[in-house]
Amino acid sequence: MRGFSRKNYTIILYIESVITAKKVMFLFDKKNQMLKTEEIKKLQWQRLKKIIPYAYKNVPDIMKKFNEANVKPEDVKKIEDFAKIPFTTKDDFAANYPFGLMAVSRDKVVRIHASSGTTGKSKVVYYTQKDVDTWTDLMARLYDCAGVTNKDIVQNMYGYGLFTGGLGFHYGAERIGAMVVPAAAGNTKRQLTLMKDFGTTAIACTPSYAVYLCEAARVEGYNPKEDFKVKAGLFGAEPWSEEARTKIQDTFGLKAIDCYGMSELYGPGVAAECQEQNGLHAWGDQFYLETINPDTGEVLEPGKEGELVVTMLTREAMPILRYRTRDLSRVVWEECGCGRCHPRIMRIKGRSDDMLIIGGVNVFPSQIEHVLMQTPELGDQYQIIVTHDKLDKLHVQVEIAPDIAANKYFDLKKLVEKVERDLLSILSIHTTVELVQPGTLPRSDGKAKRIIDKRKK
Ligand code: ADP
Ligand code: ZN
Repeated sequence: MRGFSRKNYTIILYIESVITAKKVMFLFDKKNQMLKTEEIKKLQWQRLKKIIPYAYKNVPDIMKKFNEANVKPEDVKKIEDFAKIPFTTKDDFAANYPFGLMAVSRDKVVRIHASSGTTGKSKVVYYTQKDVDTWTDLMARLYDCAGVTNKDIVQNMYGYGLFTGGLGFHYGAERIGAMVVPAAAGNTKRQLTLMKDFGTTAIACTPSYAVYLCEAARVEGYNPKEDFKVKAGLFGAEPWSEEARTKIQDTFGLKAIDCYGMSELYGPGVAAECQEQNGLHAWGDQFYLETINPDTGEVLEPGKEGELVVTMLTREAMPILRYRTRDLSRVVWEECGCGRCHPRIMRIKGRSDDMLIIGGVNVFPSQIEHVLMQTPELGDQYQIIVTHDKLDKLHVQVEIAPDIAANKYFDLKKLVEKVERDLLSILSIHTTVELVQPGTLPRSDGKAKRIIDKRKK
């Protein structure tokens, strides 16, 4: 060891640190994030021309659909022809469960995931190594949008397992070079301890869990802004309101970034807000987006609200053409203040499956959340119960805020009347409101289950 001086050791450490920094740079390339509109559109067309025949040739169910619709891949000669291609629907996953949509031989598949099955049978999805790499790169973009770097400590509170949230947010954080705390979902007390002890600077979880964390932090005696260092939050996997965002941001002093995706389209990572918080950048080099009229299937003009239909542009193991997401939104193609030119999805109002039809009137749970969350006398937890007794009935159970619960003289009857009035003015239908004690409604560490529709058998 005589020749190995302290100086040599310092040089080795320096070289290692340069290699690590370079590795992060190589692993995470910003180029695709910053493509210009024309470049994205050109790339989309090039990739569509490849993926259409690839899907047709390799997935029997897709070929069958083309044949039934009397369409051949070569019929798509220009982008306008793309509307001729048959849709893929959620039912196609059920019909091909579990491996029927695989476009490669089984030995090329390195991972599977399955959706939580919020709306019926679970959907199984598959990835080649290249698919996992592409997905990871998209997840890294989400962190980049949220301002998270290799200096950050990311506490990932999404569920690990078949659900795509856990591993998706985990791999993305590693690719950006951050230090990941794979805390997984649940055990709220421990989550808070980890956040404090490790000095977590970014958190990833469902927005409903983040709202619950606000409450839990206070109950556990923390002063969130002082005790924690969290500056960024990546929240997604379910719809959430602007009021919920304000609550989370104000409690922790963080910037709350909305992230959108679904298992069928890799998982989370389809789109994310940037620091401007003005629509979610949907990565046009990997996804081709359309909006359609959900009743007729007709393609809408750009910017009009409708059902999002997504085509995956480079997926190997499971190419998906014109997937009907059932999510309602609109897509705008304008350069964002951050310089990114990818199309933006405006905040998802909810999925058409979640829309309640109460006596013929369309009601989105997010509209109800909007009213409840802007009433300071109420807590954050609520449940929507729909029944039918001659007519459809909408009933909302909501917790009162702890300080109101402690005040014996507070006029709860007046509060009920006020909330019922506010709901009537937003929804145009009468709702009955029931106040319950704090801490009595179920909390969830994943996607919140807010609706109990007793009309469905
Ligand atoms: P499942 O369909 O079984 O719930 P996923 O976990 O893949 O399985 O959920 C994807 C769905 O979650 C999307 O189609 C959408 O309805 C909802 N979702 C995901 N992210 C968001 C978001 N940021 N805002 C609103 N809804 C979202
Ligand atoms: Zn932006």
